[in-house]
Amino acid sequence: MNKYLTQLVELCEHDKELDSFKPKIEAAQARLNSKVNQIDKAKNEIDVLNGEIEELSEQISLTNAQIAELNAKSKSSAKKSASLKTEKEIKALSVEVDITKEQLSAANEQIDRLEKHVETKKALIADLEAQKSAFETELEEIKAEVSTQMGEVEESRSKIYSVREKLIKSMDPKTVSFYEKIRKWASNTAVVPVRKQACYGCFMRLNDRVYSAVIKSDDIVTCPYCGRILYKEAE
Ligand SMILES: [Zn+2]
Repeated sequence: MNKYLTQLVELCEHDKELDSFKPKIEAAQARLNSKVNQIDKAKNEIDVLNGEIEELSEQISLTNAQIAELNAKSKSSAKKSASLKTEKEIKALSVEVDITKEQLSAANEQIDRLEKHVETKKALIADLEAQKSAFETELEEIKAEVSTQMGEVEESRSKIYSVREKLIKSMDPKTVSFYEKIRKWASNTAVVPVRKQACYGCFMRLNDRVYSAVIKSDDIVTCPYCGRILYKEAE
């Protein structure tokens, strides 16, 4: 293989390696995001439940006010009863007292119900708080892991990068810009091997003339179908 081609193959390998870090970085970011989302979801659910508890507490205060009113009414009925003379008046008051009693017991039942709802929601909040704090601990662990991982990635990346830079400096600038042009659309398959007389970028079969030029490798040969740079791997 001629020197230019060897350099191109090497350059393409470095670029491939550099690109291979991307999914690692994305996967780490995705792990972080998913944990942050879980924490946010728990937070939102807690907020909703707290809002519902507030509403229930308002209903409880209203019902308590109603109970106070009904109790006052019972007291005044009791006072009134001493001054009543006719049977009709007594009967009317007794009906009123019964209604007030029923209303009081309904209001008290309502309070019980509302308080039970509040208790249920508070228990849910406690569960969610526990979940949230577990998620927060996990997030811290993931952050530490990711930071170590990213440190390693950064180290390998900068090593490869400096090797790549050195290589580029030693190369003919025209060859480099030719490669970069192909890389724009072919990305990591800008330089591909020929196997079984076929281009391993587009998998088209090469004619004998192109194939022998690739084998000879006096010059840089591109695939006549896709335009990628071709090389014959060492046996
Ligand atoms: Zn091709």
